[in-house]
Amino acid sequence: MRVVVCGAAGRVGRQMVESLSQEADMEVVGLVDVAAIPADLARSFAPSAVCSDDLASAIDQSSPEVVVDFTVAAAARENMVAAIERGVSPVVGTTGFSDDDIETISRKARDAGVGAFIAPNFSIGAVVLMRLSEIAASHFDHVEIIELHHDGKVDAPSGTALHTARMIVEARGEPAVDVATERFTLEGVRGGDYDGVKIHSVRLPGLVAHQEVVFGGVGQTLTLRHDSTSRESFAPGVIIAIRRVRDLKELVVGLDKLLFESVSG
Ligand code: NAP
Repeated sequence: MRVVVCGAAGRVGRQMVESLSQEADMEVVGLVDVAAIPADLARSFAPSAVCSDDLASAIDQSSPEVVVDFTVAAAARENMVAAIERGVSPVVGTTGFSDDDIETISRKARDAGVGAFIAPNFSIGAVVLMRLSEIAASHFDHVEIIELHHDGKVDAPSGTALHTARMIVEARGEPAVDVATERFTLEGVRGGDYDGVKIHSVRLPGLVAHQEVVFGGVGQTLTLRHDSTSRESFAPGVIIAIRRVRDLKELVVGLDKLLFESVSG
């Protein structure tokens, strides 16, 4: 499969170029980034790839089947539309999309009959954690999410934390139960609120991507935790999505749909 990587100079993009180039059925034919693409990256893992700062022109020059995007939400939104309009399937890990963005992209993909895929988390362990959270959700009224990421992450909370909270609330069929705090001596310490699910975002150098979901019940707690200790953890999920996205005929959101459900066109 011919793949263009958008955000190829970024932390995750670079790892994707390296990981995808090692797959026998994949060739990285384009590297796109507004930042300079490291010469050793292209030389080592994609020697014949087109390098560009513009996705549309990279697609026109390299005829890919799939575009992988790890950039920023504003760019990824445009990139998905540019890919779909050219009949190329986007596989997107970029986070920070609004519900309106998802709806617009979904409509574009459906109208064009082009498969498209977005996952707020491509790490298989994190997706399993979300599924386990869904199972626990109806057995515990109280739940809080602590997500921890490296200091370069631009958005908060993480797309994964929001997606997990949404899945928990949907599984419960009602909001989680928040514990009222009578007196605050420091503002903001109870975190953000998604339908009763408190979300706390930690940003520190030394971290990669981590999430803890803590359920509270009478006389017991249940803690589920996942750690991505290296960006390689995102590659197996991205590879699954690249292999499946051409069979889709619309936008699918969430790696769980590919791992646990038999979605197709
Ligand atoms: P990063 O290191 O900042 O990389 C993003 C790259 O995209 C940068 O080189 C940036 O260039 C470039 N870029 C910005 N606008 C662009 C455009 N219009 N066209 C082409 N390239 C553009 O960020 P990262 O840590 O790799 O993360 C990228 C995204 O993936 C974030 O949204 C992050 O939350 C998400 N992510 C998702 C997962 C998942 O599993 N789904 C995992 C990890 C990260 P400049 O630096 O010059 O702006």
